[in-house]
Amino acid sequence: MEHERHINRAMRPSDHDRWMGSCIDAAETAARSGDFPNGACVVIGQDVVAASGSEAEAGADPTAHAEVSALRKAAASGRLSPGATLFTTLEPCAMCLHSAAVAGVREIVFACRRSDVGDAAYISSLDAAAMAELLLQPLELTYHGDPNGRIQKLVTNFLSRNQRQDT
Ligand SMILES: [Zn+2]
Repeated sequence: MEHERHINRAMRPSDHDRWMGSCIDAAETAARSGDFPNGACVVIGQDVVAASGSEAEAGADPTAHAEVSALRKAAASGRLSPGATLFTTLEPCAMCLHSAAVAGVREIVFACRRSDVGDAAYISSLDAAAMAELLLQPLELTYHGDPNGRIQKLVTNFLSRNQRQDT
């Protein structure tokens, strides 16, 4: 655990901004193809080893949330290893939290809380922070903030156009 904490401290805020930028790019790509505008990337050391937007619509797979898709891509490339950090534009849902823990992710950095973007489908009694503590392999949840309100705008635009509210 001490080793991962050391890695986390080595990350500079500018790195976080850059990696969150990769997530936002992926979210915008997903939005353009009609998917929910969520984006995620997997960072190991200082490298983005995989990034993805939600592929639930494009892949006809309701479980293909951005976080899960990014983890699958990292694993398929052979570059996923324990201690990875997962960056994501939105507070992760229960499935993605648990998937990240199973994949050996030690920290999830997210930009926006669900309540911040009015994502009613995911505003519930689910408390991601409390849940992260209950996982078999607890992971750290770090709030990043929404650069220039870009994520909130993406989600608001999507929700205003769609009845469906998934990731
Ligand atoms: Zn999810």
